[in-house]
Amino acid sequence: MRRKRLCNAHARSTGLPCRCKAMLNGRCRLHGGLSSGPKTVDGKAKVAEATRSRMLNGQSELAKAGFQRWLNAGGREYLQARAMHRKRIKKIKAAYDAWLLNNQSI
Ligand SMILES: [Zn+2]
Repeated sequence: MRRKRLCNAHARSTGLPCRCKAMLNGRCRLHGGLSSGPKTVDGKAKVAEATRSRMLNGQSELAKAGFQRWLNAGGREYLQARAMHRKRIKKIKAAYDAWLLNNQSI
């Protein structure tokens, strides 16, 4: 039996860990699991700056360990699924382009 991975957030009121099931990024849907990251150019720049300053303060080892943890906790499957999806889209697009070429002259 596989134990469900829990969200690693803590309640501010009690200090107890959240008991919800974590999503791929290690948080439940109430604690940032649904977040898909920054969307605006401004937001992306802010996150990049924050990441850069964190890395300069010697947190790159921590980040590497965290990434490894994410990979082992299902991130690898996620990345593989994304790659397969991209490959499938590429194939479909190529087939469509070929079809367009064949049907242009008619
Ligand atoms: Zn949570």
